[in-house]
Amino acid sequence: MKRTLFSDEHEQFREMVTAFFSNEAVPHLREWEEAGRVDRGFLRRAGELGLLGFQVPVEYGGAGLDTFTYNVVVSEAAAALHFVPVTLRVHTDIVLPYFLAYADDVQRERWLPRLASGESIAAIAMSEAGTGSDLAGIRTRAVRDGDHYLLNGAKTFITSGITADVIIVVARTAEEENRRDGLTLLVVEDGMNGFSRGRNLEKLGLRYSDTAELFFEDVSVPVANRLGEEGKAFGYLSSNLPQERTSISVGAVSMATAALVGTVAYAKEREMFDTTLASFQNTKFVLAEVATEIEAAQHMLDRAVTELDARTLTPADAAKVKLFCTEVQSRAVDKCLQIHGGYGYMRDYDISGMYADARVTRIYGGTSEIMKIIIARSLGL
Ligand SMILES: Cc1cc2nc3c(=O)[nH]c(=O)nc-3n(C[C@H](O)[C@H](O)[C@H](O)COP(=O)(O)OP(=O)(O)OC[C@H]3O[C@@H](n4cnc5c(N)ncnc54)[C@H](O)[C@@H]3O)c2cc1C
Repeated sequence: MKRTLFSDEHEQFREMVTAFFSNEAVPHLREWEEAGRVDRGFLRRAGELGLLGFQVPVEYGGAGLDTFTYNVVVSEAAAALHFVPVTLRVHTDIVLPYFLAYADDVQRERWLPRLASGESIAAIAMSEAGTGSDLAGIRTRAVRDGDHYLLNGAKTFITSGITADVIIVVARTAEEENRRDGLTLLVVEDGMNGFSRGRNLEKLGLRYSDTAELFFEDVSVPVANRLGEEGKAFGYLSSNLPQERTSISVGAVSMATAALVGTVAYAKEREMFDTTLASFQNTKFVLAEVATEIEAAQHMLDRAVTELDARTLTPADAAKVKLFCTEVQSRAVDKCLQIHGGYGYMRDYDISGMYADARVTRIYGGTSEIMKIIIARSLGL
């Protein structure tokens, strides 16, 4: 069914991004996997091409757009080439919105131009070893001391934890009866005394992106590095999570689509029993089911993007979209891998990487179970 999200300008932009990824990402993916992170030069080029600051105001070096649809095109263009632009996506879709919404004028001047150009890459550190789903259980502490906060604690599973120059750290600044109160956003910068990075964690998939532990030992963070008001971070996180969940859903549906397209082509080529794999009724039925689920997910998702742009996407609706789209992706890549037989398990075939990469989308950005809790709450349960 026809999608209505994009104009001719989006399609021209898609061609440009596809050419950029084909020339400057795809040939290096194995190299980046071995290094456990993408090349810094690639990120700078992405900045030069304007891929890092769609919503950053023009005066700070961005495009000043008021729509998420160009972010969607970037993820879709990468998925069509069988990779997930994790580092870019976390920077643009997940972390930048906090700077755009909560930075004051001085902070905007200081950070936005560097974030739009790729001179600075951003990450967000919420999760800790003892608390992932239960965000209100954050133990990293920041104690105000004059014009500084003294930050102590540790974070884990932080995307771009090795690469990032600026990291928004969610820290507890007060013990309140309601655990959701008393959390604050502090921007930790590369080189601050007492800030160190741990291991680049070994992952099942997305091996070309870095995911790290971070440690804070008496890090003196200037009050000038606080984003927004003290104690208000839980509310800020809740209002930005619908965009994060939409972004993950875009990656999920576009990767499921790429898996389907690749599997249809494979099934037509693979010969056996004097015929092709595509000729079996099972192949047709399985891929018909995959196509139908993707179609449903795509239209639900496109509607969510429209609502995100209109600022009407509710947390419960974003949770429904993430739950559905990521579960569709998981079923799709599993079925597509099965159609490939043993070849699907080999790294020479991209479907094996898609399978490994897909597994995390039901976990990060809030697990499927947490999505169900949010949805159930909206039902009054
Ligand atoms: C590759 C990767 C990248 C990540 N990037 C980042 C990042 O950049 N920044 C960041 O802050 N975090 C990041 N994370 C962390 C991610 O958001 C968490 O892993 C996720 O929220 C789940 O938390 P957890 O791992 O602690 O699991 P847990 O919270 O320990 O969950 C374990 C299980 O318990 C279930 N569960 C939890 N609570 C309930 C409940 N109330 N009812 C029923 N079941 C429940 C969960 O659904 C899950 O199945 C990343 C994680 C991964 C794997």
